[in-house]
Amino acid sequence: MLNPFSIPKPVNEPIKDYAPGSPEKETLLAKIKEVKSQIIDIPLMIGGEEIRTGNTANCVMPHDHDHVLATYHQAGEKEVKMAIDASQEAWQTWSKTSLEERAEIFLNAADLLAGSWRDIVNASTMLNLSKNVYQAEIDSACELIDFLRFNPWFAKELASHQPMYSPEPTKNRSELRPLEGFIFAVSPFNFTSIGGNLPSAPALMGNTVLWKPASSAVLPAYYLMLLFKEAGLPDGVINFIPGRGSHVGPNVMKSPLLAGVHFTGSTAVFQNMWKEIGENIQHYHSYPRIVGETGGKDFCIAHESADTDVLATAMVRGAFEYQGQKCSAMSRAYIPTTIWDEVKEKYLAQINTIKMGDPEDFTHFMNAVIDKASFDSITEFIDFAKASDEAEIITGGGYDDSKGYFIEPTTILTDNPKFRTMCEEIFGPVLTIYLYDPNEWTETLEIVDSTSEYALTGCVMAKDKNAIDEATKALTHSAGNFYINDKPTGAVVGQQPFGGSRASGTNDKAGSMFNLIRWVSQRTIKENFDPPKDYRYPFMAEE
Ligand code: NAD
Repeated sequence: MLNPFSIPKPVNEPIKDYAPGSPEKETLLAKIKEVKSQIIDIPLMIGGEEIRTGNTANCVMPHDHDHVLATYHQAGEKEVKMAIDASQEAWQTWSKTSLEERAEIFLNAADLLAGSWRDIVNASTMLNLSKNVYQAEIDSACELIDFLRFNPWFAKELASHQPMYSPEPTKNRSELRPLEGFIFAVSPFNFTSIGGNLPSAPALMGNTVLWKPASSAVLPAYYLMLLFKEAGLPDGVINFIPGRGSHVGPNVMKSPLLAGVHFTGSTAVFQNMWKEIGENIQHYHSYPRIVGETGGKDFCIAHESADTDVLATAMVRGAFEYQGQKCSAMSRAYIPTTIWDEVKEKYLAQINTIKMGDPEDFTHFMNAVIDKASFDSITEFIDFAKASDEAEIITGGGYDDSKGYFIEPTTILTDNPKFRTMCEEIFGPVLTIYLYDPNEWTETLEIVDSTSEYALTGCVMAKDKNAIDEATKALTHSAGNFYINDKPTGAVVGQQPFGGSRASGTNDKAGSMFNLIRWVSQRTIKENFDPPKDYRYPFMAEE
């Protein structure tokens, strides 16, 4: 049984403003200057040792791609094996520590990140991921602090869940055992907080982890490793193995000790990992737990009764914050013909004020997309729309990668509800709008539900309560996170547990106890204080 412990009830970390002249802006700018002025060397971290393979790649600034921030070493087969060995050595002690001891380390990490580490983690996120200060603050500071503070609370709730009855003379109890083996945490580029949560959630539950961060976001991930160490995380509990996914992944997943995969990223990569696990299934010591949050094609359906100011703002923020590179970003909108003129006017008025550029200039709402591959794939969609008879570009459409990977906030208007950009994930600053006849509201809800393979987030905009109710019911399976009169992005830990279904993932809800249950295997223990001493039952007695 776990000891009664004193994990504090968490509250969400307040978001700092970084307003002109504020002390937080001043210290952050100084840290940005420092991060930009150096090229650091990032080793692998295996069993607490720094490992340098000599097979290196660069961390750059997407808004100025020739500017190198760091060089990082990439793992190969040998280092994967070393990391697995180190994880198993650490497992011997870590898996036996109490939840209270483990929680204390991650709560320490949260306090460090809320305090002296906030600037370096935010600065490296702004520069390496090309995020404006607000986007960095809500991600690498606030959301990760929340994960680190709420998960211990959820773990305590889980541990307190015990069998209902213990009839005399027995005592029943349940304990949460870490999984045997190691967890493979594989994180995407777009959120430093997800990078921090994927390895730390299983580690909190007593597991040891191999963490492969996204290649385009290694710098903030490295600072998180240093932060975990300072918070007191023992060597070998989280082993840091950056490198090419297609190289590192298969080497990890063929290990018989793979106990689980904690993945966030694209649907295609996740499906391939699942296939690989399937192919190896006979070789594993246990059935690996597979948790993956993947792509989205997130919608906004506006009713005729929608507040047009709210709708226009939700479209701008929902589609273009962080250049649309959020799994939850609004990328298809359905607007009634009757309110379109008014919405369009308000929407264009807002779009026309957007400034784009370097995140160091705090007046920039948008920055660059992450890398050349993303730039090429997003601009291919834009060119496709430009060339099509079924679509018209009403904002943006321009792009330029000469200095940084910049793409204008692009809006496509189409008369085909199944136009390619209404269906496929683009993962960039592109919103496609389809105008519908308000008499076909119910039919349009069916179109929203059936247009994409994904079901991550979506929103309905309406003042009419019946319309809200109808949309909420009709779109039950269309989104794991559904918003009413709000944009479909910006889930907060402890408020909107996050995840989607269909091709969007296993929906194990990051930032909730339902995620944590995947990283333990329960043992039920019955103790009998007066066990029988004769095999015969009363029914067997002779009359
Ligand atoms: P990605 O799939 O390209 O990469 C994700 C991670 O997988 C990276 O670390 C990558 O190196 C690794 N990887 C690639 N091939 C691999 C392999 N064969 N074996 C093991 N690992 C491998 O995704 P990305 O571009 O970093 O992120 C964008 C995607 O993530 C989008 O599709 C977005 O919708 C999704 N996403 C989803 C959520 C969510 O909560 N649903 C959150 C953030 C991002």
